Amino acid sequence: MTINKIIETDILIIGGGMVGLSIAHQILERKLAKNICILDKENKLGKHSSGRNSGVLHAGLYYKPETIKAKVCVNGAKRLKEWVIKRNLPINKCGKVIIPQENCLDSKLDLLFERGVRNGAKVEIWNNKQLKKFMPEVSSSSGRAIWSPGTCVINPIKVIESLQSELIYKGVRILTSNDNAYSWKVEPENRKLILIDGKIIKYKLLFNCAGLQADKVAHLFNIGKEYKLIPFKGLYWQLRKESRIQIKANIYPVPDLNMPFLGVHFTPSSDKIPNVYIGPTATPALGRENYNLMNSIEPLASIMNLSTLARQYILGKGGFRGYTHEQLLLFIFPLFLKSAKKLIPSIDYKDIEPSKKVGIRSQLFNKKSKRLEDDFLCLKGESSIHILNAISPAFTASFELADLILDNSKELLQ
Ligand SMILES: Cc1cc2nc3c(=O)[nH]c(=O)nc-3n(C[C@H](O)[C@H](O)[C@H](O)COP(=O)(O)OP(=O)(O)OC[C@H]3O[C@@H](n4cnc5c(N)ncnc54)[C@H](O)[C@@H]3O)c2cc1C
Repeated sequence: MTINKIIETDILIIGGGMVGLSIAHQILERKLAKNICILDKENKLGKHSSGRNSGVLHAGLYYKPETIKAKVCVNGAKRLKEWVIKRNLPINKCGKVIIPQENCLDSKLDLLFERGVRNGAKVEIWNNKQLKKFMPEVSSSSGRAIWSPGTCVINPIKVIESLQSELIYKGVRILTSNDNAYSWKVEPENRKLILIDGKIIKYKLLFNCAGLQADKVAHLFNIGKEYKLIPFKGLYWQLRKESRIQIKANIYPVPDLNMPFLGVHFTPSSDKIPNVYIGPTATPALGRENYNLMNSIEPLASIMNLSTLARQYILGKGGFRGYTHEQLLLFIFPLFLKSAKKLIPSIDYKDIEPSKKVGIRSQLFNKKSKRLEDDFLCLKGESSIHILNAISPAFTASFELADLILDNSKELLQ
């Protein structure tokens, strides 16, 4: 592709993950601007969270009704499901059961049920007979479970590829590392971004949808200096093809609602013959994009920073500290198996094998309040909008979340 030395665009989006692509999609749908350019530092879209997630379209049970997550999840899932079906992309409409892995978690089922109903999700409480009839291998310690018939699984990479092609067809310009977009600097006061090769992109409004790097990008605009993203690695195992265990639906444990992650779960993929993934773990990661354990580790200073920060503010006794210790141990196979056995007691080491699937989830830490942010966070500058905490269910909710962001940014979109 030949590119002029200066590119003029109404909208510049940094990051071509699901959030950036959905914002471009909704800007076009709503005819808010015609001229859109997306910049991604990789040679291909979907190389980070949007291409490495479980692919579950969440039904909206977990989130407190007053949160943004709750507001956008149910409709977002409905819209993305329809979008996927219309394009004939793979989808597994298998539903999900949530089961208490210990008796003391039983009362949380009522809370999740109530949240689901308030958020507008379809949800049922099942007794042991219903559960066993559906999946005899699954065990609920209290004999009760939640059934979410609306939960589905899609193929995230196929969704990204399809959305990317549609946007290109509609005239959106996507620049990747092949166009030297892997390194750039920005002059926010001049609304100008300069690529490493000297090309200049002039924009009217910029959206920062840089996922795992969104805090660093925001800091270049002098925005959100109090926030820092902390990465957690998610490793998956998978059910061996020859295993006799039948997984008909997503099987999730009752999560600790004070912790940011949902716990190790079983997810059948959207393939014709589904592969069943078990995971992800949530281990503090040495580097935001360090998928290969020892590769691309962030500069030592940054890791030291993170560990100091974690020691100082987050890892208090019990709570998050206990949780991260527990998660760290899931690296060890027998302990991982023990955790899987809480959902399916008959599962054995012969049934599972390591999977190549690995993702990194980030959690936004607020250095001022010394808290992890639980909800999506969108910060505005003079001519920039920064989406800083696009954690799960941001993939599920992407179209609805994009609309909410656009609704709340009318003054900047004039
Ligand atoms: C293991 C795991 C499991 C998950 N499971 C689910 C699930 O089942 N359901 C669900 O709804 N959500 C799930 N999520 C969350 C979901 O994947 C994310 O919320 C969503 O993908 C975030 O999209 P994004 O566009 O913000 O980020 P990303 O997909 O990370 O996209 C950001 C893009 O920005 C680019 N970028 C970064 N820095 C720069 C820069 N300086 N210049 C240019 N480009 C840059 C990156 O290359 C990347 O392409 C999961 C996440 C993980 C990791």
